[in-house]
Amino acid sequence: MAKLEVLHFPDDRLRQKALPVDNITDEIKRIAEDMLETMYDEGGIGLAATQVNIQKRFVVIDLSEDKTEPLILVNPEVMEKDGIESMREGCLSVPDYFDIVERAEFIKFQYQTLDGETVIEETGGLLAVCVQHEIDHLNGKLFIDYLSPLKRQRLKKKLNKQEKLQHNVL
Ligand code: ZN
Repeated sequence: MAKLEVLHFPDDRLRQKALPVDNITDEIKRIAEDMLETMYDEGGIGLAATQVNIQKRFVVIDLSEDKTEPLILVNPEVMEKDGIESMREGCLSVPDYFDIVERAEFIKFQYQTLDGETVIEETGGLLAVCVQHEIDHLNGKLFIDYLSPLKRQRLKKKLNKQEKLQHNVL
């Protein structure tokens, strides 16, 4: 397994719309393993292929405390939404920033496993939020897109400044 580089906002590659996975190849399985390792290493609970510059529709998630319940969703899709929930979100592609985002509270979603089996599930709470957040990535969307333009502008300035400081150090 290998750790992958996670793209950071405002990288344009985070804005691409990922293509469906037609064939679940060994390469896709290997990348999914690498994505899990990368996510665990960086302390995330979800990671979409888009975030590691693979423009294909699959994501990895693990909400367990001890990192023992990996979920790999291929071609995930929300079929139905219900209710509204506000949760504080963060993202490995937007380091050190957290904010409240409003999303559907319950979802019915569909995906394929790595074995190509189609699964339909209903869920709520953190998993529902996480699935919506990761599918957004596959569509080139970030959680900060839900914030007001003013907040987003401030965040961009802050990140640019951080980047300059880091370059100064080097
Ligand atoms: Zn994210």
